Amino acid sequence: MEARFNNPFTAEGNWFKGNLHTHTKNSDGALSPEDTVRQYKEAGYHFLSLTDHCRLTEVEQNQGMLLIQGEELHCGTSEQKFNFHFVGLDIKEEIVYSGDEIPVLKKKWWEVHPQEMIDAVKSRGGEIILAHPYWSALTTNDIFSCQGYIGIEVFNTTCYHSIDKGYSMTHWDDLLVRGRNIFGFSSDDCHNHFNDHRQNDACGAWIMVKSKKLAVREIMESIKKGLFYASCGPEIKDLKISGDKIFVATSPVKSVSFIAPNGWGEMFTALKREPFREVEYRIRGQERYIRIQCMDTQGRMAWTNAIFFE
Ligand SMILES: [Zn+2]
Ligand SMILES: [Zn+2]
Repeated sequence: MEARFNNPFTAEGNWFKGNLHTHTKNSDGALSPEDTVRQYKEAGYHFLSLTDHCRLTEVEQNQGMLLIQGEELHCGTSEQKFNFHFVGLDIKEEIVYSGDEIPVLKKKWWEVHPQEMIDAVKSRGGEIILAHPYWSALTTNDIFSCQGYIGIEVFNTTCYHSIDKGYSMTHWDDLLVRGRNIFGFSSDDCHNHFNDHRQNDACGAWIMVKSKKLAVREIMESIKKGLFYASCGPEIKDLKISGDKIFVATSPVKSVSFIAPNGWGEMFTALKREPFREVEYRIRGQERYIRIQCMDTQGRMAWTNAIFFE
């Protein structure tokens, strides 16, 4: 069985931390673009995409923080009469919304089929991530009604802290089991919204990208190849595939799971007091794909992209 996987842990380059889904005062976020960038810089992020709803927020490239132009794009009508939200990344040309209209597509935004939106962004050199499918109440039919998006948000901080709909692992596996190699992103969707019973949604999720250079072109190339992992806490330090073994090293965690279709895969739980730092899984040969997720003692998770076997 041959493993098909762009392994970020063996790829050349350095690790860079980034958040690809962020709102500012230009839509419904609480902080100005400049203050939002400062907030992420202070939290140790290297790159950030400001993705205001239905508009492009332009900020000058700022020392110490690489900015990737983005826009959150609303479109379509889902099976249950909700809408699709896409994170448009590396947007070179704004998709303008004029009231209910998207002039470039000559339609009201909810009449734009998700495929039309994906094609519009990609034909202009951008990329699409399917945002918060659980929060959006997207069904299997919905997520298969379009293609060409590079990934889905497997975790979304604001969807988690506001209504406990942050995780979309089942949606992800629904794609992977059908052979669609879609990547898993962990994003804040930061609005700086919080109250006395709701935690702030800033700086709680990220992706760690392996790239030769901290520049838009190189970071985007690495993202498109899947050379990253997603986290809202744990660090994944190593992943090696050799023969029928997968070895994973992490910061201290209470569980490491090897997720595969049907009843394949395995969860390793630290039942003694000491958390894990290393786990080895034996590939049985029936898995089709395996992705690895782990959880630390505070319940925060991290996810690798999927390893496919053929
Ligand atoms: Zn959204
Ligand atoms: Zn958003």
